[in-house]
Amino acid sequence: MHEVGIATSILEAGHRETERRPGARLMGIGVRIGVLSGVDVDALRFAFECITAETEDEKVVLTTEPCPRMNRCQDCGHEFSSLQSSPFSDAPCPRCLSTRTTFVSGDQLDIAFIEVEEP
Ligand SMILES: [Zn+2]
Repeated sequence: MHEVGIATSILEAGHRETERRPGARLMGIGVRIGVLSGVDVDALRFAFECITAETEDEKVVLTTEPCPRMNRCQDCGHEFSSLQSSPFSDAPCPRCLSTRTTFVSGDQLDIAFIEVEEP
């Protein structure tokens, strides 16, 4: 399962952060997941629970934040959510109706925040 690998790297990012602060405990991790990332959020949460169960990270809370597909208009610079459009064609700009728009985000998988408890 692909999501186990992702959950593991998310947890590792959390560990790297806590290691830099002596005595700190990892409390929670937030991730931003783009709608086009191909990540199954439920599977990811389940995988995260599995890898942290009965470990020191059992209480670490994983927060997932969905991110829409975004396009930017080349004519007026407006950035807009283009969820409704097909991933294979670019949506027209809702502000100036230009069709010269380009995909800017929606396939990301980023750490949004890492929450640690200082001693
Ligand atoms: Zn525009």
